[in-house]
Amino acid sequence: MKQKKILVTGAAGFLGSHLTDALLAQFPGNSVLGIDDLSTGNLANLAHLAGEPRFTFLNQDITLPFDPGPVGYIFNFASPASPVDYDRLGPETLLVGSAGTIHMLNLARKYSAGFLQASTSECYGDPEVHPQVETYWGRVNPIGPRSVYDESKRFSEAAVTAWHRYYGVDTRMVRIFNTYGPRLQANDGRVISNFMMQALRGEPLTVYGDGLQTRSFCYVSDLIAGIVRLSQSAEHTPVNLGNPTEFTMLECAQEILSVTGSKSAIVHQPLPKDDPTRRRPDIAKARALLGWEPTVALREGLQKSLAYFQACLAAASK
Ligand code: UDP
Repeated sequence: MKQKKILVTGAAGFLGSHLTDALLAQFPGNSVLGIDDLSTGNLANLAHLAGEPRFTFLNQDITLPFDPGPVGYIFNFASPASPVDYDRLGPETLLVGSAGTIHMLNLARKYSAGFLQASTSECYGDPEVHPQVETYWGRVNPIGPRSVYDESKRFSEAAVTAWHRYYGVDTRMVRIFNTYGPRLQANDGRVISNFMMQALRGEPLTVYGDGLQTRSFCYVSDLIAGIVRLSQSAEHTPVNLGNPTEFTMLECAQEILSVTGSKSAIVHQPLPKDDPTRRRPDIAKARALLGWEPTVALREGLQKSLAYFQACLAAASK
């Protein structure tokens, strides 16, 4: 990637901003153009780059025409990603994963750029195969409340595969499992942000359903390290990245109570429709291909995230 401009879409988001930081640090000869329409991203996530001459920001919806000129690599991370956000922005979510992805693939084709697509464990839907391997095609409801996200990402995978197969674009795809850390939106409705904010406020932790559904939580620095490695590989089929240690939501609530020292109670609320009952990545492919595996356990990652959520609470109560 020598002396090339790297495009990061969704750069003001949780993952996009951490990815931008990692690219600037690891590829000192490169510049990064961060693009975001700020529909769910937050410029505060990029504020620390104000004095960085190798970084520029463009407020742009990637579904609309624009051409940044020659780029060496495109990381396509633009999309609402939390259930609350894609429920609110349903049509926008479908558009960014279809028209937006094709637009970015055409730029990669035009400039012979490398391409990495942020995909998701939601491609597996509510899975019958556990843990989820990349060869599993998934069980997704095409018209349910999650369909705007799941099908937009599944369409993105089809488009990325086609632009590679038909036009020889140098593509990669990462299926990202639940990830958390500083810069996660405090109010995005996800389990880690909800529980952290509720615990810090001394409010009850809202466990949906019986709390026995599972997720496997990856700390953001682990995920980003895997993504950068994947970007340098020649693997064109999807690769799972996530932490394979699985927790029930009740266990997750207990971890957060213990890390925050909160005395909050646990209350149960209705389980949202089509909420996957379990999720855990099989990361054998990433281990073999990239020599990658996560190193940060949930307890440690929550401790690393605590100061960030405390700052969110302080900002909210100003
Ligand atoms: N969840 C919960 N309480 C909350 C928010 C979420 O019990 O306040 C549950 C939710 O029902 C799901 C899991 O936590 O089973 C993860 O939800 P999240 O929205 O973080 O992401 P998902 O993995 O479902 O996309």
